[in-house]
Amino acid sequence: MNDKEFSEQIHKLKQVYGDRYYPDGRVRLIWSEFKHLGAKDFEAGIDKLILEKRQAPLIDEFRAVFAISGASGRQARIQQIKAANYCDLCGNTGVISFASKTYRCSCPLGEAGLLFSGMMPRWETTTEKTFNG
Ligand SMILES: [Zn+2]
Repeated sequence: MNDKEFSEQIHKLKQVYGDRYYPDGRVRLIWSEFKHLGAKDFEAGIDKLILEKRQAPLIDEFRAVFAISGASGRQARIQQIKAANYCDLCGNTGVISFASKTYRCSCPLGEAGLLFSGMMPRWETTTEKTFNG
């Protein structure tokens, strides 16, 4: 989503729960964590929060509502993993190409099989040794 689409949803939250729960510093952090979401997905999540939450939803509630399964949930999970770790082995792609073959990395990104579908052999520390004889 873009800046404007995000701001519209934050404005809705402010109208329901009050400005004081969404100061600029907090809004910026929410933006940095959820900006990768599509505008429609973000709006749907905010609407759900507004309907369900008596008190101003903050980051925990945001994470819960956007961790739903489906494309947007998967993207959010990938972003969380990427923010928390950096994998030198696969460069945070979850995939290792070696000797003309493609492997799933053994890091959380590869383990979760988040970035690709279908069967892909798992990269083992022994794989490289096997190829090198
Ligand atoms: Zn990796």
